[in-house]
Amino acid sequence: MEIERVKQNKVTSFADLGLSEDILKAIQDVGYTTPTPIQEQAIPYVLQMRDVLGCAQTGTGKTAGFVLPMLEILGSGRARARMPRSLILEPTRELAAQVAENFQIYGKYHKLSMALLIGGETMDEQIRNLDRGVDVLIATPGRMIDLYERGKVMLNDIKIFVIDEADRMLDMGFIPDVEKIAGLLPSMRQTLFFSATMPPEIRKLADRFLSNPKSVTVAPPSSTSENVKQIFVNLPQNNDWLKREALRTLLRREQVQNAFIFCNRKRDVATLQKSLSKHGFNAGPLHGDMTQSERTATLEKFKKNEISLLVCSDVAARGLDVEALSHVFNFDVPFHAEDYVHRIGRTGRAGRSGTAYTLVTPDDDKLVNAVEELIKKKIDRESIGDLPEPRPNVGHSHRRVSAHRGPRRDHHRQRNDRPSEKRNQGDAPSRDFKETQPAPATTRVAQPPTQRSNSTQDRFADDMPAFLRRPVTTGSR
Ligand code: AMP
Repeated sequence: MEIERVKQNKVTSFADLGLSEDILKAIQDVGYTTPTPIQEQAIPYVLQMRDVLGCAQTGTGKTAGFVLPMLEILGSGRARARMPRSLILEPTRELAAQVAENFQIYGKYHKLSMALLIGGETMDEQIRNLDRGVDVLIATPGRMIDLYERGKVMLNDIKIFVIDEADRMLDMGFIPDVEKIAGLLPSMRQTLFFSATMPPEIRKLADRFLSNPKSVTVAPPSSTSENVKQIFVNLPQNNDWLKREALRTLLRREQVQNAFIFCNRKRDVATLQKSLSKHGFNAGPLHGDMTQSERTATLEKFKKNEISLLVCSDVAARGLDVEALSHVFNFDVPFHAEDYVHRIGRTGRAGRSGTAYTLVTPDDDKLVNAVEELIKKKIDRESIGDLPEPRPNVGHSHRRVSAHRGPRRDHHRQRNDRPSEKRNQGDAPSRDFKETQPAPATTRVAQPPTQRSNSTQDRFADDMPAFLRRPVTTGSR
């Protein structure tokens, strides 16, 4: 497969890319002046009806890279045809919802309609929408298949198929579903395949889905914006209570309008959010164990400034687009240096300035070095004076003993966009430690009734074989 890059600087405006007036007007309304590199490269190929293999991450503008030319192509056909003409698959509900939002913004001068088909929400509304006839489907794979199998949607007329975030689809075990869906589509179609990374298995997959594609690629962000002031806060010990105290001190000291606070583990998200709330901070949680409606409600509150601090995990927050964030706090140094770049890139957007604090303990040396190596910059360090003597880490033996890098591929993640599963997609796995006390109620996975009351079983539930988890029936039949 040939790698082809369109020479940059050759194209300078959206109009040069071959987009029509209606789209240019919508782009102008949203305030974009020049295409991003992925848009510059991908849009002309999509308009030529070529298959595209795009290597680009969230944050590079890739959504507009496929939505804009898709609008252009569909706009020249018949709007509100009986059957959808385009299908976009996303690994998570949030990403799907964001693409739908983009579709509405860029398509405001078009009469095209779309249906957002995601798990965790009632099917009725989605089915009603489908019944009215839509042009574009934006879906998570599980819900797409469910609706197809119920006979609620026809895929025989799909002309443009987008597989977005393919590496995350792979991580989350969605590839069989994606393959199944691809098998339901007409073979004469245009396929656009995007992935943040291109390991060999993704390439093989791309080879199966794409026909003579044009490859476009943009470098993953490995540098941080000059607009973000970065500070590493040295703590004398790796101690949860001390970290929370340090965070509170920073929150009180800084002019924080709104902030994302990142934890490496989802169970810590819930604990930290509760602790902050108890101390009078206006904080909400965002992690993979929350139901979709809880997540949506929390995000809405954050966007409306009803909540000013959002405690979140990387997966839950990935792809979320919140403008004008004043601060990012890393409660933990991320296991993966690239996540540091993503996290702090949430602030200092669109010419605004922002500040990113990272709590650093003596156990974090390797992770800190990895971050500084990646961004090729030494980050300023400071200490907080007058921190009280730390309390011991009661009940937690899950401190990192070494800078172990947690596995990125988590094939144990639940496949949660099935309607029957209320819980959302997983966060960073917590496999590098063992829980020695029951997790807080909001993060605890529901257990059968016979186990719920048994704290010892609860404690070891993670390691317990499935047959031991089944409820025990007593008495003869
Ligand atoms: P994405 O990678 O598609 O998630 O886009 C990341 C962010 O970039 C979103 O906030 C978009 O609104 C924004 N964006 C997309 N294209 C442009 C552009 N050409 N100029 C400025 N911002 C853009």
